[in-house]
Amino acid sequence: MNAQDRANKDLKPSSHDGKKHLPLLEPEEIISSLGSDGRRRKPQPADVKGRFHSARRILFSVLLLVLAALPFIRVGGQPVLLLNVPARQFTVLTKSFGPEDAFLAFFLLTGGAFLLALVTSLWGRVFCGFTCPQTVFLDGIYRPIERLFEGPREQRIRRDKAPLGPSGIARKTGKHLAFLLVSTWLAHSLVFLFVPMERAWTMFAAGPAAEPAIFGWALVLTLIGYFNFGYFREQLCLVVCPYGRLQGALVDDDTLVIAYDTTRGEPRGKAGSTKGDCVDCKRCVVVCPTGIDIRNGLQLDCVGCTACIDACDEVMDKLSRPKGLIRFESDRVLRGGVRKFWRPRLLIYGVLGTLGAVAATLAFSSSRDFEAHVLRQKGAPYVLEGDDVRNTFVLHLINKQAEPRDLSVCLDNPAEGMTTTLPLSLSLAAREGREMIVVFKGPIPREGHSGLQLSVYESLDCQGKPSQQLKAEFIGPRQ
Ligand code: SF4
Ligand code: SF4
Repeated sequence: MNAQDRANKDLKPSSHDGKKHLPLLEPEEIISSLGSDGRRRKPQPADVKGRFHSARRILFSVLLLVLAALPFIRVGGQPVLLLNVPARQFTVLTKSFGPEDAFLAFFLLTGGAFLLALVTSLWGRVFCGFTCPQTVFLDGIYRPIERLFEGPREQRIRRDKAPLGPSGIARKTGKHLAFLLVSTWLAHSLVFLFVPMERAWTMFAAGPAAEPAIFGWALVLTLIGYFNFGYFREQLCLVVCPYGRLQGALVDDDTLVIAYDTTRGEPRGKAGSTKGDCVDCKRCVVVCPTGIDIRNGLQLDCVGCTACIDACDEVMDKLSRPKGLIRFESDRVLRGGVRKFWRPRLLIYGVLGTLGAVAATLAFSSSRDFEAHVLRQKGAPYVLEGDDVRNTFVLHLINKQAEPRDLSVCLDNPAEGMTTTLPLSLSLAAREGREMIVVFKGPIPREGHSGLQLSVYESLDCQGKPSQQLKAEFIGPRQ
């Protein structure tokens, strides 16, 4: 029997089918959401009120609003975020990026991962409890819908046990229709981050047959959302998400985790007795969305939702005892020590995370509206033509913006007697990339090589200040 089974024992039979079964595993070997017979036990968390609950509700509302508004926000006619995968064009805060900017994604991802490790080392799984999309959607939308249709925890448990009558069918149908509706909205909010809005509106007007691939994605995402938030729920955090599994490696004795103060709470006993402050009311257990008893110590199944803190604070308030029997606290303090803030791991995660964030910010802010690269053509590095030598290069120009762009490329330092196919000028359509062959022919350089400098201008006539300069080597046989 696990924590919520014990808390539920007045409401549940001794096993799923009402018969007695021998437990297959010892209780400590069973994860919180499994019954003693190995079947899934769906937690039915009770409602809770408190300071963390209020803070989470405000944060969830803001995050959901941002998600809903994101596809529609435009700055200078450009979407704030558009990940156009088929066109390999990614627009972030009006700047466009392509596959050539993959290093930016690398710095962003590694920097983000180290900063997340830093936050986890400081405050445990606060990311899971407050900002993870799984928590935001589940606790911010799906659970409130469930409560609306099926009532508070005790009613839900009773109704689940009772035979399904007409009102039960109506309630479940209403709830699942609402789940499907929200899943459809979520899926479309996600799809709109990958499909330009103009195309999305055309798609809506033309019907699913016009864009079967996009329609298919929206349908699959809707079904995944419905399955995940309607049924799978805490299982995603417990058995799928790798971040939770890393918790043991990221936290230490000085991390502030959600913890029960054993010294103050034990021995448990009824209110009014001379025992510890915990009155064994099990409120902290019945509000837990993963069904664990935090009084057993920090567990991988704790997603840091803080519901048990609010629940226990409510109880302490009623008993006129100090709040914080369950609170954010470090293991060292709970064992009577003094918390060390500075630890080597904080420094390592902090430095690596900051490096990644700074590199990504620099790369982001220095990103140009176009890309230009010059590379020697594959094959022979040079070709002798009489007394002259010919070098051939491939010039690659990419317009990363949503508008057409004029560009020209000129050679800044032609050697005496050198001929070249430069200057060249061209107009690139929105997000168009083009490759051109550029040839330099001239006397064999004395040292066997000499530097070439090419300037790229945002005009058709190599006028004004060059926007980018490219280097190339003009080579020939040593003399
Ligand atoms: S809510 Fe507080 S008092 Fe009640 S069982 Fe949990 S720790 Fe003990
Ligand atoms: S133990 Fe507390 S913080 Fe952890 S998941 Fe359960 S209710 Fe949330």
